[in-house]
Amino acid sequence: MNKNFYVTTPIFYPTGVPHIGTAYNVFIADTLARYYRQKLGKENTFFLTGTDEHGANIAKAAEAQGKTPQEYVDEYAAKYQEVWQGVNLSHDYFIRTTDPRHEKFAQELIQKSFDNGDIYEGSYEGLYCESCEAYYTEADLVDGKCPNHPTKTPVFTKEKNYYFKLSKYQDFLLNLYAERPDFVQPAKWAAYVRGLVEAGLQDIPVTRANVKWGVPVPFDPEQTIYVWYDALPNYLSTLTFPEFQGYEEKFWPVANHVVGKDIIKFHAILWPAMLKSAGYEVPQHVLVHGFFTINGQKIGKSNNNAIDPRDLAAKYGNDVVRYALLSEFQVGNDGDFNIDRLKVKYEELANSWGNLLARVVHLANNKEVEISNTANVEPEFLTKLEDLAAKYTQHIEVKELFEALQTVGQITEWANKYIDEQKPWEKDKSPEDVALALNNLSVLLAKVNELYAPFLPESAAKATEALQKREKIILFPKIEDEAK
Ligand SMILES: [Zn+2]
Repeated sequence: MNKNFYVTTPIFYPTGVPHIGTAYNVFIADTLARYYRQKLGKENTFFLTGTDEHGANIAKAAEAQGKTPQEYVDEYAAKYQEVWQGVNLSHDYFIRTTDPRHEKFAQELIQKSFDNGDIYEGSYEGLYCESCEAYYTEADLVDGKCPNHPTKTPVFTKEKNYYFKLSKYQDFLLNLYAERPDFVQPAKWAAYVRGLVEAGLQDIPVTRANVKWGVPVPFDPEQTIYVWYDALPNYLSTLTFPEFQGYEEKFWPVANHVVGKDIIKFHAILWPAMLKSAGYEVPQHVLVHGFFTINGQKIGKSNNNAIDPRDLAAKYGNDVVRYALLSEFQVGNDGDFNIDRLKVKYEELANSWGNLLARVVHLANNKEVEISNTANVEPEFLTKLEDLAAKYTQHIEVKELFEALQTVGQITEWANKYIDEQKPWEKDKSPEDVALALNNLSVLLAKVNELYAPFLPESAAKATEALQKREKIILFPKIEDEAK
């Protein structure tokens, strides 16, 4: 087992503020970071997020607002940080690719591949979508429009570029996937990536002649480094910053990249090849998540459903918003979400965990019995609890967050059933039986609090304190609907 854990989100392109869909990605990473901080210690866990600040789209957006690109990205990077702070994100650092230290690292990385003969001069022509900053072939287009931008018509463009010999790394990648079948998680995405590489790889342009807002190519300063060759190295550049002395040795290559399915190719194919070319180890895992719709509609401005996660958190609490998403569908799958489901999830927590806590504390105080004595738990009860907790651990360590949450749900369901069967409130129960049942339950509850902590950190802290102090609290108070 690794002693250290490093988790990253993609660095986001700051042309707006993050919405609930973006937040889903960071919630996954945050949950994993919190789990490993609990397990390995704070000093052995590192969680990185940030913003990807170069490129033609940024320059264009800045110009439209009468700002310099730097002013523009400063403003939006601050907005991102505000939102993440507002939803209690526990990242250890926020990387910005306009940080000169990152820029220098990206230059050094591409220089290493150039020196190895993996970067060569060529020209590129194709159908270029300005919004994607990407070229397409005729076959990629949908009714003549960009596959990602249904209103944009990609334009035929030709320019001088430098190419990265991605094709050279086909065997390396296939060996990597064969040796480490869980390099890409979950398995269905590993199979998808392997299929893409087996089908053959083409060299890709990694510099741009006509984008000024970018990092200059060290061996040809007329060109700038193309988006991915600038963005992806953030995962490594940060670890080399002076304030993170020793982090490169500690956190590379134990990196876990949490990415949406739209950028899987860049993380699971290009990035390991870039690293190999420049003489670095490849990361531990690439975790791929799906997307969700809201009431069946894609999230976006046009559907007016790009909800600010802070608005939901203000009403339901940070914890419940992330719980609702993570408990609704499996990480690698797509799903659907809406406010009614969020309310159902809130009730679910109130009725299971919240109710259990209230009952155990109330009865323990009422019956004046000792609780939270781990030495006095019934052996059979303890074995069952430990088995379920082990199942949770197995799930969360392969990043099956949905399944891990289901397991905690099973524990609380069992506990509420157990309390109904034991009926510790009945007058004719022997004091020994009552004491035993309530002690069993209190130890179970402490475990539930611990297992929920990575997902619902604020609630878990409250529940832990209430149990220790034997204070009766309402963990999930009733929420009044504003409009009737
Ligand atoms: Zn496009």
